[in-house]
Amino acid sequence: MKLIFLGPPGAGKGTVAADVCKKLNIPQISTGDIFRELLKSGTPQANEIKSIIDKGELIPDEMTVQIVKNRLSKDDVKDGYILDGFPRTIPQAEAFDKIEKIDLVINFTVPDDSIIIKRLTERRICKKCGAIYHLTNIPPKTEGKCDKCGGDLYTRGDDEVDAVKNRLIVYKSQTAPLIAYYTEKGLLKDIDASVNPKDTFKQIEKLID
Ligand SMILES: [Zn+2]
Repeated sequence: MKLIFLGPPGAGKGTVAADVCKKLNIPQISTGDIFRELLKSGTPQANEIKSIIDKGELIPDEMTVQIVKNRLSKDDVKDGYILDGFPRTIPQAEAFDKIEKIDLVINFTVPDDSIIIKRLTERRICKKCGAIYHLTNIPPKTEGKCDKCGGDLYTRGDDEVDAVKNRLIVYKSQTAPLIAYYTEKGLLKDIDASVNPKDTFKQIEKLID
């Protein structure tokens, strides 16, 4: 099954994708992860991407599509995959339509931005071991310290209030138009992602069974 997960940052796509992947035995393909891996590789392409990011510009759509296409040429996607973070723009979706046939687009809806802002700005990460906490849902036993290793917890720059608000603005202008695009193709199903990851997963199970 070939799935696209669509939705704003903080909708829980990554967390729920991990469970759906386990159930269907298919890989989760996150463009964020692919770019992070690529940047570590030191290849000419990595240097090109780095210079684009350093200038504060967006990776061109053709380059993103090419990178996803390369990833989908690997053996592990023969039974399907979940795309998380791609396509992000209408031009990416149009280019992708020419190379792949998607079964279903799951749209993670969160009715209120304040839910997303709370989810993301309360996230804390351990500097030492990378463990993830959430001040409301998974609070550390000692404030500011990791339960596992005692390391200091910090807020990722991306998760600061202003950065989160900015990510939401970018999502609404660039990615939200994909909702209409896939609705028109009859591929889109909405789920309520304002609930916890377990209940979000149950809604997806109903759609894929
Ligand atoms: Zn730790």
